[in-house]
Amino acid sequence: MTKELLEKLCCPIDKHDLNANIINEGEEGEILEGLLSCPECNRYFPVIYGIPILIPDEYRDESMEKPLLKKWGYELTEGEDSEIPLLDGKTK
Ligand SMILES: [Zn+2]
Repeated sequence: MTKELLEKLCCPIDKHDLNANIINEGEEGEILEGLLSCPECNRYFPVIYGIPILIPDEYRDESMEKPLLKKWGYELTEGEDSEIPLLDGKTK
């Protein structure tokens, strides 16, 4: 995904603008791997192979996302009433 696209993206839950942490950039400056986070609801959305995973909670596969986040150095906190753990906001 390009950074221009990033500016057009918003949280699918509350339409808030997303913050981006870029892990891996391509030669053209495109985002290959990264993490988008919503400051409003604290959800995180990974970018994997250049594809932003902006899908509702019920379709998300935590078992697929968790190893990636761990690899990128993120800590997750378990949400009390959500199956999807929310991002702690801190990097190691
Ligand atoms: Zn949100």
